[in-house]
Amino acid sequence: MILRARVVLPVTRPPIDDGAVLISGNRIRTVCGWRDLTVRADEQVIELGDTILLPGFVNAHCHLDYTDLAGEIPATKLFTDWIKSITTAKAGKIYADFAQSWLRGAHMLLRTGTTTVADIEAVPELLPEVWLAMPLRVFSFLEMTGVKNRREPRFVLDDAVRKIESLPVSRGGAGLSPHAPYSTTPELLRLSAATAREKGWRLVTHVAESDLELEMFLHARGEMFDWLQRNERNMSDCGLGSPVQHLERHGYLADNLLAVHVNSLAPGDAALLGRRGVSVAHCPRSHVFFQHRRFPREELAGAGVNLCLGTDSLASVTKVRGRPMELNLFTEMQSFAAAHPGVPPETIVRMATLNGARALGMQGRIGELSENAMADLIAVPFTADCADVFEATVHHVGDVAASMIDGEWVRPPAT
Ligand SMILES: [Zn+2]
Repeated sequence: MILRARVVLPVTRPPIDDGAVLISGNRIRTVCGWRDLTVRADEQVIELGDTILLPGFVNAHCHLDYTDLAGEIPATKLFTDWIKSITTAKAGKIYADFAQSWLRGAHMLLRTGTTTVADIEAVPELLPEVWLAMPLRVFSFLEMTGVKNRREPRFVLDDAVRKIESLPVSRGGAGLSPHAPYSTTPELLRLSAATAREKGWRLVTHVAESDLELEMFLHARGEMFDWLQRNERNMSDCGLGSPVQHLERHGYLADNLLAVHVNSLAPGDAALLGRRGVSVAHCPRSHVFFQHRRFPREELAGAGVNLCLGTDSLASVTKVRGRPMELNLFTEMQSFAAAHPGVPPETIVRMATLNGARALGMQGRIGELSENAMADLIAVPFTADCADVFEATVHHVGDVAASMIDGEWVRPPAT
């Protein structure tokens, strides 16, 4: 099968005007100019017309099972109040609610160009049924928490390991997600890091999302410190350094870690993350919702940290009038562009494709159009009023014109 489009955007190479992508099975065989291609008589050619053909987006952070909490949880002044609200909201839900939420969120992502998602699973019982119901390439990270001594960390981890090992082979995969330094114990972090190393799995953890978390670990004080202490968390790991230094102390920082948010850094943290090869997922709209301090993009990029983009969940997105509340990486790219006007659109597109692939250990296989990569592609309408193809991609509004995952159309082009 050959796909022909006005512009092909491989991401790893410059854009190709009147480009073509040759696909066989679930793989890309050739990416070149239409004129450079010899078309066999029996080859199917699909004309995508005035579109940009590019790799499907890799959404580096999501909680699909919270999709239906959209608009239910108000933005609060304190991050800890939001955590309390979402915990209460979740307690009122049953299995079927989470399943419906997950699937609704996955549909939103498919419509809007995501072909791979790194999803946090708070309800692991949904797996693998929800995987099988959706063509999306899903990497599921099983959430683990536990600050009280009610349940030993090794039992919490054992449950997650058993679940992952029971899952069938899929288009994506699974890994571990100790929730955050403040909501776990050092032992859970150490054991998870050792298990992930041994089994070749990846880790996703929320790190230094708020200033309250930085204050808790740096100075053993503040609202988060007080709240967790009241909730019987052993606070002896506080007052010893920043959340990033806390993770380093427990052998947690490595190139299999995708750290989410990373807003509140102490001096030296960015360099340490860079040295350890950690990737960082930034979620622009969630960042705006919580009114966190400015995302330290320059510092992290300067330290060589691989930066990618995620949607987070709809529980932390502000409704914009006239726009649907949906999981959508175009909207995230636009929110990021507005907050960081100096960053070229090309860099933003790489964050949403190539960098996400690298964070999942999938470099060369997804997030780019190149020989032997998986055939995960999207077509975005390309109108005459925007000369720059990266700019047009970032600022696209609406659904994609077509989307393919693993060599199969999940949104076929209009004929
Ligand atoms: Zn999250």
